Amino acid sequence: MILDGKAVSEKRLELLKERIEESGLYPRLATVIVGEDPASQMYVRMKHRACERVGIGSIGIELPEDASTERVLEAVARLNNDPDINGILVQLPLPAGADTTRVIDAVAPGKDVDGFHPYNLGRLLAGTPVFAPCTPQGIMTILDEYKIPIEGQRAVVVGRSIDVGRPMTALLLNADATVTICHSKTRNLEAEMKGADILVSAVGKARFVGPDMVKEGATVIDVGINYDEQGKLCGDVDFEAVRERAGAITPVPGGVGPMTIATLMENTFRAAKLRTC
Ligand code: NAP
Repeated sequence: MILDGKAVSEKRLELLKERIEESGLYPRLATVIVGEDPASQMYVRMKHRACERVGIGSIGIELPEDASTERVLEAVARLNNDPDINGILVQLPLPAGADTTRVIDAVAPGKDVDGFHPYNLGRLLAGTPVFAPCTPQGIMTILDEYKIPIEGQRAVVVGRSIDVGRPMTALLLNADATVTICHSKTRNLEAEMKGADILVSAVGKARFVGPDMVKEGATVIDVGINYDEQGKLCGDVDFEAVRERAGAITPVPGGVGPMTIATLMENTFRAAKLRTC
């Protein structure tokens, strides 16, 4: 079975649009982009387009590549203090000179719709999440929409980044899976992966996951965004070879990616609602 993240995201965005209309709220998202990285610019444009589609207002702050950390912090502080802004998204990665940790820590936790602030990551780890990072939360939505069982299942997450691997582990644990997290120092990685009922690959290497690493019938979630030798977009998983073994699998493109933006919209609406509580 192909887990069609694009279709799930379309459905969720339509639903969200209705919920926002019914609520009478006008949530607003602010994006902050530093520098002119084309991929980051494209992601930010996509986020603004999604806002427009569902009835979320958006503003974009653009800072030059050489902006100091202090200047980024000033922009974040202004947005924190702006009562008209519900969600703040600082597009990562920041240019090499900027202190990413200080910037993430500066976002007001109640406006941290990316879910990267230590408060929100801590709440997630404690099992009482407020805002979970969008990519892993979007994966949970896909699993839920396709009614993939999680409770008691063996889940293996490959990758331990703050934006994907670690929060993915916490979300699966909170949903009662038995979770293993793997990384570049993991011994017998293949054996670990082969034990998974749910395998999430967030490594960032084309064709990293072959059929030999996948248990027959497993659910395979491909987070990777890579380019193959021909320059074609692909995930971490050798899709054509693995789909034969997998019980369910996300494609790239059209799998996890669209859910990340849909979840950002959901988090922004939640931020607006929480402010009114
Ligand atoms: P990252 O910060 O570079 O993390 C990669 C992880 O993979 C690290 O934990 C690393 O281990 C592990 N790793 C690398 N080589 C490995 C190996 N040979 N065996 C086992 N583990 C290995 O990347 P990320 O931000 O999590 O992103 C991962 C991928 O997902 C990228 O392709 C990225 O573009 C994509 N992504 C997609 C979305 C989306 O919306 N679809 C969102 C975010 C990211 P160490 O920690 O030991 O170095």
